[in-house]
Amino acid sequence: MDSGTCHTPDCKSSDTRLVSLETKPERTIVEVNGVKIGGSEVVVMAGPCTVESLEQLSETARIVKSGGATILRGGAFKPRTSPYSFQGLKEEGLEMLAKVKAATGLPVVSEVMDTRQVETVARYADILQIGSRNMQNFPLLEEVGNCKIPILLKRGMMATLDEYLHAAEYILARGNSSVILCERGIRTFEFSTRYTLDLNAIPVLKQKTHLPVIVDPSHGTGSRDLVPTMSKAAVAAGADGLLIEVHYHPENALCDGPQSLFPDDFSQLMKDLRKVAESVDRSIYNPE
Ligand code: PEP
Ligand code: MN
Repeated sequence: MDSGTCHTPDCKSSDTRLVSLETKPERTIVEVNGVKIGGSEVVVMAGPCTVESLEQLSETARIVKSGGATILRGGAFKPRTSPYSFQGLKEEGLEMLAKVKAATGLPVVSEVMDTRQVETVARYADILQIGSRNMQNFPLLEEVGNCKIPILLKRGMMATLDEYLHAAEYILARGNSSVILCERGIRTFEFSTRYTLDLNAIPVLKQKTHLPVIVDPSHGTGSRDLVPTMSKAAVAAGADGLLIEVHYHPENALCDGPQSLFPDDFSQLMKDLRKVAESVDRSIYNPE
């Protein structure tokens, strides 16, 4: 990578040889159960922040699938700010994800927070999510780098894009090149939204790396009213996919209810996204 664009103090050690677009000019397409991420089609991943019950997950999965989502999200191990908040259903939640995957055919993405959980989560999930808080958990990056399944690596909320690319490099350096990047908002001085969704990251990352880039407008804004606008903006700016929180009853959600879309909001958004995708010569992936 061009070290002239590196602003980190240890910039002499900047080396992103594997993730760099200069080294590999063809874009990487990550394939998950037939769904291709990073190609001409935009992939929508949606579902609840966290798995709460079989009913909540099945109903929400049915809703997102009928709207046109092709990957189901749902956290079983949850990184919560307070130790007293709901921490996720852990393996029981993963079992529910597997059941709902079998019933709907939707592959699932779920977070892994610790090296000790990798084997368990990898037994159930089709994509392992590394959360924002763990973007620079180097032993965890190495552990998932040893896996054969795709990794969704979220940007650290206080990480520069250079640090982010180096985190991805850790995974590729271990032999796993199926990495999906995800801009999810960064900490700034602006507090009218939960985070500041850095849409600059999309074109900048696309200039620097061959890896697919998706956007999470739910955490990026923290407010369901802003999610449709920022989802459309992300697709217009070249995102390869979206990660969107949807809940069958957001008012009762155990985690991130205020940023979770109602079922009707989601189906309307999917209709609008098809038009935006078309305007930038893309389409929303739909297996039917
Ligand atoms: C999530 O996707 O539920 C999540 C915890 O995201 P982040 O790591 O971006 O906060
Ligand atoms: Mn969440």
